[in-house]
Amino acid sequence: MEIGQNAVVAFRYRLLNDQGQQLEASAEETTVYLHGAGGMLPGLEQALQGKAAGDQVTVTLEPHEAYGAKHPDSVQRIPLKHLRGKKKPRPGDVVAVNGERGPRQVTIVKVGKFMVEVDTNHPLAGMVLTFVVDIVEVRPATAEELAHGHVHGPGGHHH
Ligand code: ZN
Repeated sequence: MEIGQNAVVAFRYRLLNDQGQQLEASAEETTVYLHGAGGMLPGLEQALQGKAAGDQVTVTLEPHEAYGAKHPDSVQRIPLKHLRGKKKPRPGDVVAVNGERGPRQVTIVKVGKFMVEVDTNHPLAGMVLTFVVDIVEVRPATAEELAHGHVHGPGGHHH
């Protein structure tokens, strides 16, 4: 089956910066997504269109196709207690904070006694990113998955 609208895709990936250094790699479990449901970076989804299980796809995305440009005025001071699950943050750490629209990832700039300075840019903002994707499985979505707009089962939602 080829990847197209309403396909459920399972893949492994490596993420490289423009120096060829590896930034991330998929964990033990494959990453799954519902093609065409808006849950995946559009540039990556476009590159996977028409591919099949067993294919390897390499795609390089400019910042505007990936996580956007880095905004200069994005350093904020927030109370230390607003950081989730990180007792002793250090500069450079990427942590989650509770934002207006749910948790978001920020990078610690400076740590004080009660306040921390965080950079609210996405950690991958401003970067040219290369994804090396190995497609593991492609299957049609079930009616229930289409109704919910996400994948069920291993790697997806369990409810
Ligand atoms: Zn669901």
